[in-house]
Amino acid sequence: MSDTLVLPEGVSAEAFSSAVGELRNVVGDNWVFSDEAGRRIYRDPFSPLPDDQFMPSAAVSPASVEEIEKILKVAIDHAIPVWTISTGRNFAYGGPAPRKPGYIVLDLKRMNRILHIDEKIGYAIVEPGVSYQQLYDHLRATGSKLWIDCAAPAWGGVLGNAVDHGAGYTPYGDHFIMQCGMEVMLADGTLVRTGQLGLEGARAVNATKFSYGPYLDGIFTQSNFGVVTKMGIWLMPEPPGYKPFMITFPHEEDLSAIIEAATPLKVNMLIPNGAAAVDLIWESAVKVTKSDYYAGEGPLPPSARKRMAEDHKLGMWNFYGALYGPEPMMNNNWEVIEAAFSKIPGAQVFFERENDPAWDYRVKLMRGEPCMTEFGLMNWIGGGGHLNFSPISPPDGPRAQQQYEMIRDRCIEYGFDYIGEFLIGWREMHHILMLMFNRANEKQRAAAYELFGILVDEAAAAGFGEYRTHLAYMDQIAGTYDYNDHALWNLHHRIKDKIDPNGILSPGKMGIWPERMRG
Ligand code: ADP
Repeated sequence: MSDTLVLPEGVSAEAFSSAVGELRNVVGDNWVFSDEAGRRIYRDPFSPLPDDQFMPSAAVSPASVEEIEKILKVAIDHAIPVWTISTGRNFAYGGPAPRKPGYIVLDLKRMNRILHIDEKIGYAIVEPGVSYQQLYDHLRATGSKLWIDCAAPAWGGVLGNAVDHGAGYTPYGDHFIMQCGMEVMLADGTLVRTGQLGLEGARAVNATKFSYGPYLDGIFTQSNFGVVTKMGIWLMPEPPGYKPFMITFPHEEDLSAIIEAATPLKVNMLIPNGAAAVDLIWESAVKVTKSDYYAGEGPLPPSARKRMAEDHKLGMWNFYGALYGPEPMMNNNWEVIEAAFSKIPGAQVFFERENDPAWDYRVKLMRGEPCMTEFGLMNWIGGGGHLNFSPISPPDGPRAQQQYEMIRDRCIEYGFDYIGEFLIGWREMHHILMLMFNRANEKQRAAAYELFGILVDEAAAAGFGEYRTHLAYMDQIAGTYDYNDHALWNLHHRIKDKIDPNGILSPGKMGIWPERMRG
């Protein structure tokens, strides 16, 4: 498949070519990707829309903060938008691709140094290109007793995931809560350090999230206000004991009771980790494909679901959690947890499961061991299409059940399986629908695209907002945050116009556009 080069809006071929030449001078020829093969590295391979909707005109990969500064100058001089990525594995949300065709991707993968590990206080300082696997391997190779918390795929990045509000499954699962201290380059090249890092020669650097003055780190996450060039992240000390568990529940209607039982355990920190209620298909799809159970069109029928659950000793919902600490502490907590869940008829507890890759990868994730097993889900139907619909759900049983049924029913109506999980953090609950479709099937791809848009509107009408999304829906979702005539997004735009007056940094990220591209 060949694609046509789309230039940045309003930029002539001459200006573009001269900008690319200047970028080559900054980083060297090898680190500017402007031919077709180079550009295609940065497409979104799972997109619900054709590749060309999000294809960059080029990418540039700097090795240092100084090179980023020079790249931003080139971008300002030629009014070219740059789209910042760190490891670029933000799959299901757009991967490495930019919001609009023609942008230049600022790919920070080469800046991948682990700058510091503080074994005593428990934190790391990393550059943007550091992957989970890299940090994990480094800690193990150096004999560190610190754990990491990773999102499901090992190739994701510590910094990129945290600044996009990603989550994992250990007690340190909320990555942005565990982030501490940042270095950020603003569009005009100013380098800023937040918190205690703002003090030259600071000693208490990455242990204090909030210090003197407004807390600014948040405005550089899920935004386009700066390029984060370093970040501190807290790491969990290896506990003396680890006890993962799984409880299966036989009915779809059990979700309400599961969340009712889990929420007090989470809020009181008896279950300390990012616990998850996972549906039947998510659990099965790393082991079997849909065609093993059903050859027809549309969603898996109830009889096949039942058979699959029986074959694999799974519930319609499967709750994962883990305990950490000295044995007596874990045993005490377990008594309370067991008492809460055993009230739900049909609940079955597992502490071990044989030949079950789904269990194995959850056991790894809940102790911060990166793996790639979750990508097996892509084989459920094949064809490579994948979107995550990610509404926030209150950690309240009936509300979660309502949200689940609303989304499931729409999936079924549009011919898709519901594949999802409810991930409970400190209090908040992320609901992730993995919408799988065959990209090669035009009808299915269009149906997935339409379904997602409807889900956004219906969720908002029911009072549920999303926490993160694919490029294609960033504007629509921004529009749902409409309190007081969209005062929140108006504020984002006011900040954007001041902090990046030329509008070069990631225009359109989360529906935040520079003035020249608004409307
Ligand atoms: P990962 O590979 O861990 O999923 P990405 O590198 O794809 O993470 O980044 C996810 C998103 O976070 C990007 O699309 C971008 O919007 C934002 N982002 C990533 N790195 C930075 C950074 N260094 N500064 C600002 N925003 C970033």
